[in-house]
Amino acid sequence: MFFTFANARLARAQKTALTMTDKDLLGIAQEFGTPVYVYHAESIKAQYEKLTASFGEKTKFFYAAKALTNLNILKYIQQLGANLDCVSIHEVRLGLKAGFPSERILFTPNCVDLAEIEEAMAHRVHINIDNISILEQFGTKYGDRYPIFVRINPHIFAGGNYKISTGHIDSKFGISIHQLRHIERVMKSTNLNIEGLHMHTGSEIKDTDVFLQGLEIMLDLAQHFPNLKYIDMGSGFKVPYQEGEVETDVKTLGKKVSAAVDQFKKETGRDFELWFEPGKFLVSQSGHFLVKANVIKQTTATVFVGVNSGFNHLIRPMFYDAYHVIENLSNPHGPERIYTVVGHICETDTFAWDRKINEVKEGDLLVFRNAGAYGFEMSSNFNSRLKPAEVLFMDGKAHLIRKRDDFEDLLRNQIEVL
Ligand SMILES: *Cc1c(COP(=O)(O)O)cnc(C)c1O
Repeated sequence: MFFTFANARLARAQKTALTMTDKDLLGIAQEFGTPVYVYHAESIKAQYEKLTASFGEKTKFFYAAKALTNLNILKYIQQLGANLDCVSIHEVRLGLKAGFPSERILFTPNCVDLAEIEEAMAHRVHINIDNISILEQFGTKYGDRYPIFVRINPHIFAGGNYKISTGHIDSKFGISIHQLRHIERVMKSTNLNIEGLHMHTGSEIKDTDVFLQGLEIMLDLAQHFPNLKYIDMGSGFKVPYQEGEVETDVKTLGKKVSAAVDQFKKETGRDFELWFEPGKFLVSQSGHFLVKANVIKQTTATVFVGVNSGFNHLIRPMFYDAYHVIENLSNPHGPERIYTVVGHICETDTFAWDRKINEVKEGDLLVFRNAGAYGFEMSSNFNSRLKPAEVLFMDGKAHLIRKRDDFEDLLRNQIEVL
């Protein structure tokens, strides 16, 4: 009897530590001001564990750093045991600083020069080359002295938005699968050691069969690469942004992928590690972006809520037509009314059209959900506005992990010559 009671209390205590409520968000806005990005650490952990539970032990996950690179987030993800996918040499340096050992970092740049690749070599990270020109230059200079990955474009069109799809025929990413002969020619003539094959076709892919189609192509390719140790399937895992949307079913995907890989290994006697590179799957839902309603503006046709932010803080709606759920934390039970939510940038700057939100008054605190990925990361100082603060909510406590810009930040690199 007592045991049950104690266990229930313990479970309750753990629950409070691991969840973040809207009340916590109100407290954070009060303490740190708005606009502010808030990330819930345990939600990142839950997403990571969902992945590791769905795939076999020989599958590894490389967090795509570009979704959110605050050093604390990188450290947290490092401590979870994940690896890191970097698209610039500076992300590599951030990753090393966050404690990722070099063998747990993959450098997947696009259109960088050989010098940047050589910098990555000096850090001893895995390197992924995505065009024939650099492949040839690299091979000529280094031969088999440094193993590499090759990024293949399998020409699978999938995902949410053309702008974020990378597998289509006009895409600048990867080496076309139709250039396989050319890759082989460079490999043989320069003695390249290709230890990994990589693909990444885009974002927001909810159909698990698309990944399987990609995997089949990669397994077919494997026969051309005798030194292959890794097959990296990139990412594209979808997260639900709107009510009613679903997440990529990673459990089913894990089962199907494992079955295909096991069969391949049995048939060919070959072995390799399977990698994925989730970005938004890990951090999107952890993020909440808090803003204040500055002005309610009624025009002939519309009621606008003008908030103390803009597309310079969260560009996804204007850039990708992305949908973020917006809620009024100050009046969660008020009658619903229809609003168009806009920013204060002097350019059309719409976060959401015709949204039902609990009645908004000037001064109310609004939250954008699912703002962890590509939110702060794509922010700018357009209109000489300051970048927002970032807060990490972990173990039931809020920690400021980036202070809000101040006026001096706008001047930091400027040189007055007049
Ligand atoms: C952006 C990117 C990812 C992550 O994509 P998500 O949709 O955020 O999961 C993975 N791999 C590469 C190479 C990328 O450029």
